[in-house]
Amino acid sequence: MIPQEYIQEVVRRNDIEELVGQYVQLRRRGRTLVGLCPFHNEKSPSFTVYPDTQSFYCFGCGAGGDAITFVRKINNLSYVESVKQLASRAGMPMPEEDDKEGRARSRLLEINRCAARYFYEQLNQRTPEAAAARRYWKEKRGLSDGAIRRFGLGYAPDDFSGLLHYLRQRGFREEELENSGLVKRSQKGNLYDIFRHRVIVPIIDVRGNIIAFGGRVLDDSKPKYINSPETMVYKKSRTLFALNVAKKSTSKRFILCEGYMDVISMHEAGFDTAVCACGTALTAEQVKLLSEYAEETVLCYDSDEAGQKATERSLHLFENSPVKVTVLSIPGAKDPDEFIRTYGRDRFEMILNGTSNPTEFELGKAKKKYDLRTDDGRLEYIREAIGILAGSGVSPTARDVYAGRIAGETGVAKQAVLSQLEGALRGAARRARRQEQRDLAAQGNGAGIRVPYDRGGDRALAPAKASRQLVAALLQDPDQIPYVRSRLDLETIPEPEIRAAVEAIYTCADQRQPVNATSLQSLLPDEKAYSLVMMVQAQNSGQTLVRQDIDMYLDRLRRGTPKSSQAAKTDDDGFRRLFASIAQDKHAGAAEES
Ligand SMILES: [Zn+2]
Repeated sequence: MIPQEYIQEVVRRNDIEELVGQYVQLRRRGRTLVGLCPFHNEKSPSFTVYPDTQSFYCFGCGAGGDAITFVRKINNLSYVESVKQLASRAGMPMPEEDDKEGRARSRLLEINRCAARYFYEQLNQRTPEAAAARRYWKEKRGLSDGAIRRFGLGYAPDDFSGLLHYLRQRGFREEELENSGLVKRSQKGNLYDIFRHRVIVPIIDVRGNIIAFGGRVLDDSKPKYINSPETMVYKKSRTLFALNVAKKSTSKRFILCEGYMDVISMHEAGFDTAVCACGTALTAEQVKLLSEYAEETVLCYDSDEAGQKATERSLHLFENSPVKVTVLSIPGAKDPDEFIRTYGRDRFEMILNGTSNPTEFELGKAKKKYDLRTDDGRLEYIREAIGILAGSGVSPTARDVYAGRIAGETGVAKQAVLSQLEGALRGAARRARRQEQRDLAAQGNGAGIRVPYDRGGDRALAPAKASRQLVAALLQDPDQIPYVRSRLDLETIPEPEIRAAVEAIYTCADQRQPVNATSLQSLLPDEKAYSLVMMVQAQNSGQTLVRQDIDMYLDRLRRGTPKSSQAAKTDDDGFRRLFASIAQDKHAGAAEES
């Protein structure tokens, strides 16, 4: 455990605005800053930084917290690792501590290192199957010994316990081996290797750690590829294969391929900026990661239908990225690997330099769909093309140029194409405004409150809102804690997460810790409760909640408790008062409605 005082100091010495600004382009908006959320894919900024409370919150995906939360999420680190990273960023020495998670991680990385060595050794055995695997890499994939070494390529023999024995001999415990994802437990309870009779590709992260493996069959049997499952050190959606090599290249033009076999051939042909997502379609997180190293990305997927669909999906992910994106079409080959082996690297470089831009790609695809010799075909083509040109990523100049081209292709006057395009742009603007209004409405107080049915269901909505507001008020002004504590019955709070939050705030006060996002993070182990608190704080950042507000919330909570449960606790006298208060409530309720 790292002492809480130390953690607070780490957070104090890392300004949230400056920290987040390293990853997100922020624009000032009053006392806050906004930008495009790095944790989800969005077009208009809903990610907000609050310098006053040194916190952040995203109204789009609900991510929120302090500097530690931010570092943890963006770098995919453990809590302790994030504190360490921020400490070193601020030049603070680390206190002595017991980092159990960090130790487990480094054991896992050690297992992967040993496994990679095992697979590499197996490739070089004098057995017929090892010889077949070598033939696969060298003849079928055309790789040199150098490339095999550089990528640490290997072979997993047809053996259920080869790797298992190898790792056991090196002192790894069964539990650790199971966590590595390299072995599995059978129904009978025995451990066995998951990679068997496959060529093996180690997956390495940006920092050079081996975090997972991919295995491919040598023939056409199924499944063709299997990958390590996700583990403590391997998150598929945040990993790009070969980024550790590509980031060292002098070129800032990255080539995004479909699979690691393509990437390896590309590197072998001298294109050292080739990378790919492994075991998943491209994600927003990977695009974010890529944008830290690349200025330009060339999408280079297979020319089949699946590849073209993937191209389209990926293009959307790049829409808000600073990275310039282009699309490569490979004529006369099913994938880049085949193209390079058929026509050579120079021809490939030629088409690489002549890559088309996204608009060009979409228009080309639309054009192929229709028969431009018919009136219907031309009209349908114009309609679809206008939809493409009205998209958010297309510049006015590009619109003008392509409108001219479409006019030429279809024999329609350019002016007619342009005026249709203007109509489409107005429609798109209207839709964007409506969406923005809906988003704003969804951010309003009380959005998404779900009260458990046994706590009063919908009737408890008003007390639920009141208790959330109470949390916001206490965060703004911790001096109010004793006042609230003496008047609030925790049992009246309908949502268990909010009850936990109020208790955590009390604990902060008892332990004389600052009441902030950092303290609450260690006191609220429930992630849902924590993000709820961050949301409530964000929603109230624009207004100051004072004693009168607190009184109103307390009153709502008192009145909101189901009368039947109060009745059970009251004597005769109290019962009469209760009846009187029910009558009053009706008036108050009616007044509030209007
Ligand atoms: Zn977000």
